[in-house]
Amino acid sequence: MEIISSFHRDLNDMREYYESGKTKQASWRESQLKALRCFLMEKQQHIMEALMQDLGKHQLEAFRDEIGTLIKTLNLALKSLKAWMSGKKAELPQVALLTSAEIVSEPLGLVLIISSWNFPFGLSLEPLIGAIAAGNVAILKPSELSPASSSLLFSSLTSYLDNKAIKVIQGGPQETQQLLDQRWDKIFFTGSARVGRIVMSAAVKNLTPVTLELGGKCPAVVDSLSSSWDIETTVKRIIVGKFGTCAGQACIAIDYVLVENKYCSKLVELMKVWIKKMFGENPQRSKTITRIVNKHHFSRLNNLLADKMVKESVVYGGSVDEENLFIEPTILVDPPLDAAIMSEEIFGPLLPIITVEKIEDSIRFIRSRPKPLALYVFTKNKTLEKRMISETSSGSLTFNDAILQYAADSLPFGGVGESGFGMYHGKFSFDTFSHQKAIVRRSFLTDFWFRYPPWTLNKLQL
Ligand code: NAD
Repeated sequence: MEIISSFHRDLNDMREYYESGKTKQASWRESQLKALRCFLMEKQQHIMEALMQDLGKHQLEAFRDEIGTLIKTLNLALKSLKAWMSGKKAELPQVALLTSAEIVSEPLGLVLIISSWNFPFGLSLEPLIGAIAAGNVAILKPSELSPASSSLLFSSLTSYLDNKAIKVIQGGPQETQQLLDQRWDKIFFTGSARVGRIVMSAAVKNLTPVTLELGGKCPAVVDSLSSSWDIETTVKRIIVGKFGTCAGQACIAIDYVLVENKYCSKLVELMKVWIKKMFGENPQRSKTITRIVNKHHFSRLNNLLADKMVKESVVYGGSVDEENLFIEPTILVDPPLDAAIMSEEIFGPLLPIITVEKIEDSIRFIRSRPKPLALYVFTKNKTLEKRMISETSSGSLTFNDAILQYAADSLPFGGVGESGFGMYHGKFSFDTFSHQKAIVRRSFLTDFWFRYPPWTLNKLQL
């Protein structure tokens, strides 16, 4: 791509610009964050149109998950910038007389942000906010699978921001590989574990620090709930945490549900009711359900259903329309555990329900699989709650809801194990793109004679 050919010069210029100290100034950071907010507000309609074009994403979903969430993050960053930038005093042991210490955050330098297609604005700009707030220069490489969004970021975002410091480069695997071949001070990657490995291997060469925001299978455990209000609320939150979040094409979407045998049929019946209430009798005509991103992912999802035993486990939905990239919200009960649908991340509107004898068995089930990015547990049982916290490991653990944790700036967002490492959102984004420098200030007035050699025995005899 020709964008890449001028690339080395661009990177050198960006490094020089960084070295000038301009991006370290609070006023520069603030102006860029404000400009980003202007972009989101003024181009709101264009953003929604791009999301409709790329994913058939409803305007309200686009606002809820991308534009609105980003504006909230920007408001927080603008309000907190001075506090985040100011040094934090650190305690020292008493022996360090007349000495003070603090921790100062300094930017890392030139950073690369590689993002995914399912929330093309959210997953590109949320880390960019952190990179700017921390005073870095940055290159953003959005996904080629959401071309309308990537091209809007490329053509429009750049007219709002300081182009000497922030650039957008479009391209797919080949261009990303060329980017990865360069020297960076930080790589922030959102995507699959497969490409995460490629990113990490490339980072090794220059010992570049990496954040990997990956995916995996996020379970939802549904305990027996006695009140019908609680059960209905659980079902609504599961439906929206799966089918109502980019049609399940979200890293923290519910991948599968674990429930006791005896509650399964009741759960399924209620799910059918609420799917119809949310997406209508004929969801294919519904404008509130996002489409599958492209033919490749459509076939991948269709193949998950192709297995005979998997097909037999479908209790609701299952219809597909390749031309319109539509897959009906589909519920399966107890598909074979060794089928691809239970070993691979689904990333689409297929929801397997796995039955267990006792709800506590779900702990063993979760522990026997890679650590998820998100775990959801619907329960009022405090003992189960405690056991889930102490006996399972996941990027986040949410009780009685799904997805909500993504919007909480006060919480770190990130994975553990196979679901990635590093974290961002709110102040965590600022820290992710900063180096925490230890500063010590010592007075000349006090000194301890025994710290200096030679350490002869009589030196210790007071
Ligand atoms: P992906 O790994 O295929 O692509 C991610 C990025 O890497 C894209 O920008 C793409 O252009 C680039 N890329 C693809 N192949 C490459 C290669 N061979 N070499 C170099 N670069 C390459 O992932 P995706 O399809 O965009 O996203 C789906 C995955 O991302 C899922 O696993 C999902 O769970 C995960 N995800 C995680 C989060 C999170 O915040 N943790 C968010 C969204 C998606």
